[in-house]
Amino acid sequence: MIENIAQNLPTIVLVGRANVGKSTLFNTLIEEHKALVSDIAGTTRTNNEGVIIWRGKEIHVIDTGGFDNDENESFADEIIDQDERALDRADIIVMVSDVKTGVLPQEKELARDLKKKYKKTKIFLVGNKVDSKKVELNLGEKEWQGLGLGYPIPLSATNGRGIGDFLDILYT
Ligand code: GDP
Ligand code: MG
Repeated sequence: MIENIAQNLPTIVLVGRANVGKSTLFNTLIEEHKALVSDIAGTTRTNNEGVIIWRGKEIHVIDTGGFDNDENESFADEIIDQDERALDRADIIVMVSDVKTGVLPQEKELARDLKKKYKKTKIFLVGNKVDSKKVELNLGEKEWQGLGLGYPIPLSATNGRGIGDFLDILYT
């Protein structure tokens, strides 16, 4: 079981609302197509786990599948509840967002709640779908700074742009 292998490794957990590209990023990181990628929001229902090697070091990565379907619970509460087991194990939480759609209200809520609940865990913000340099300019918009997680790390999960820099930022 990967859980046993990965027990002593540093763990990165990918979280965020549906369709921002968490599973695509996970697949790119592990260099396999293990997670189901879909345009249909909320397709990933189980957590996918894998091990990547970066600069000679093994790192455990978990892709979470938080989806919104409970009308009685706020989006952020739901994600945190569903992904709690993974989040509790994280050394680094990566909140993934989509530069093409910009920041949605539920993402503000999620950023705030993650910071509150995981005070001791490093949390990074990724601006995904930065497929070209041009799109990167969107990350200068104030809404991104409003999340309080620093300047988003720009990358493209589909074409690999910025992936190496991303891993360097996490591990330096
Ligand atoms: P998840 O719900 O967060 O796991 O998102 P998925 O990985 O399933 O991706 C949702 C959609 O976004 C799919 O159609 C992906 O192909 C697309 N997508 C993911 N990453 C990128 C990216 O870097 N650039 C672009 N243009 N599309 C992406
Ligand atoms: Mg997914």
